[in-house]
Amino acid sequence: MSSEPKLTILFTRDEITATVKKLAAEIRQDYQDKHPILIGVLKGSFVFMADLIRLLDFPLEVEFVRLSSYGGGKSPGKIKLVQDVQSKIEGRHVLVIEDIIDTGLTTTFVLEHLGKKKPASLKLCTLTDKPSRREVTVNIDYLGLTVPNKFIVGYGIDWNERFRYLPGIYAMEDEG
Ligand code: 5GP
Repeated sequence: MSSEPKLTILFTRDEITATVKKLAAEIRQDYQDKHPILIGVLKGSFVFMADLIRLLDFPLEVEFVRLSSYGGGKSPGKIKLVQDVQSKIEGRHVLVIEDIIDTGLTTTFVLEHLGKKKPASLKLCTLTDKPSRREVTVNIDYLGLTVPNKFIVGYGIDWNERFRYLPGIYAMEDEG
């Protein structure tokens, strides 16, 4: 990496806060009596998850799954589960919390994996969606922000572990 990547703001902290509030209101309406389990997909979702649950003032549980992918270049490649949920989700209302849906392959893998555990319901919330690169159809129940076909960072979302700390969401310019 010869030079520092250039970052261009896409969504400010205030815009993200408003989006998280909107999503929390929708989720509250559907889940306040269901004692759901929110399952974040690590690592990128942890900042979003932290802000989201602090706006949900009803009983819920939090879990995380973690995946690895390799050999895929821009696509996720072969996806493997490296950390599964710790609690039993059979018969429970489950809401998967994603940071970004790009090709859709990772989310599809997660939903299929969790679906096998027979939850009472299984829905999907994502902070950001990049529909231009979709390879498989994904049904998003709670959608925050649609992003252009650019590589984004910030608000928990990294580039080689960098930039997660940024309060806003930025597009990273191509090198050169
Ligand atoms: P998928 O292509 O399976 O929908 O997404 C796979 C993973 O690629 C995401 O969970 C995320 O980690 C990563 N990814 C996809 N698009 C972006 C992006 O624009 N920025 C960053 N930082 N990661 C991305």
